[in-house]
Amino acid sequence: MRVGILGGGQLARMLALAGHPLGLHVTVLDPGEAPCAAAVAGHIQADYEDMAALERLAAASDVVTYEFEQVPEAAVAALADRVAVHPRSEALGTGRDRLHEKSLFRELGIPTAGFAAVDSEADLESAVAEVGLPAVLKTRTMGYDGKGQEVLEGEGNVPGAWERLGRVPLILEAMVAFDREVSLVGVRGSDGDCRFYPVAENVHRDGILRESFPRPGDPAQVAAEANARTLLERLDYVGVIALEMFQAGDRLLANEMAPRVHNSGHWTIEGAETSQFANHMRGVCGLPLGTTEAVGGSAMINLIGELPPTNAVLAAPGAHLHLYDKGPRRGRKLGHITVRADDAERLRERIQGLSAALG
Ligand code: AMP
Repeated sequence: MRVGILGGGQLARMLALAGHPLGLHVTVLDPGEAPCAAAVAGHIQADYEDMAALERLAAASDVVTYEFEQVPEAAVAALADRVAVHPRSEALGTGRDRLHEKSLFRELGIPTAGFAAVDSEADLESAVAEVGLPAVLKTRTMGYDGKGQEVLEGEGNVPGAWERLGRVPLILEAMVAFDREVSLVGVRGSDGDCRFYPVAENVHRDGILRESFPRPGDPAQVAAEANARTLLERLDYVGVIALEMFQAGDRLLANEMAPRVHNSGHWTIEGAETSQFANHMRGVCGLPLGTTEAVGGSAMINLIGELPPTNAVLAAPGAHLHLYDKGPRRGRKLGHITVRADDAERLRERIQGLSAALG
């Protein structure tokens, strides 16, 4: 089968790599001259609104999917007239907008932190009264990796915040004093089969994911799966979804969903029986899903801004290096390392060994 992907970054690259052994041919549409997926897939260089290019992508694909949620609605609508698009555009529209996302969680009974919409400076006052402080003020769309958000610690931070975030539609969310951040990556097939990877514990710094630690058998698994299953079924979803949550005590609060493969699922390439990328490709192509069980223990470390010496990583036992073929830039995800071992003790030793080797 032929799979079209909107976006040609590292997620599309890893999707294409997972598709190769299954005989799936990938074409990406991306405005960049040499997006990193183009090394392993066909590439149509064009803007996402370029109707002629979208038509070419549709003609080159049996099914189209995407690697990011900020895809213009018009592009998806144009494609959906010509070819199957998974996940459906409703999931994309929901995942693109933090207010829609949280409203859907609320409608489905999935617990979240308190939140309120902010469409004007005056709204911000009433939202603060409703949600309380401290709180996090976020742009509804286009925010990622901690961009487009500001923490309001107290009343003194409120004046000017609407201005500082660019006078765009915002959402104010109560600040959660979480014990940990977790995510659940799940996948639904075209026949409704739902499968879930073990919950991963995620460490963020400066709003960017740094490390993910899958926790098979975690006590949060049952509630996290119930939330994700509700979402998958409500959205009649096909493909991989990620649900990011805060855990505070025994409360699990949904923060956001990503209607795509997710950074907190990269460990599945070596750490699970079937990777999130292979399962997304299987799902959108109408193929049976693969087992989502973890294979031993693993940990994923993002390589951000600069790369460690390749030889030091490759020489570390159990370390698997993934380079995205992207130039160094501050805050940019350039690759990741998955460390794998058969048991928890050895995994700890291997992570320590890798840290020591990388200084
Ligand atoms: P987000 O873009 O919503 O994923 O936010 C990026 C990071 O900011 C999260 O991973 C958290 O570490 C932090 N954060 C976001 N929203 C909240 C919140 N309501 N309470 C506490 N921390 C938050």
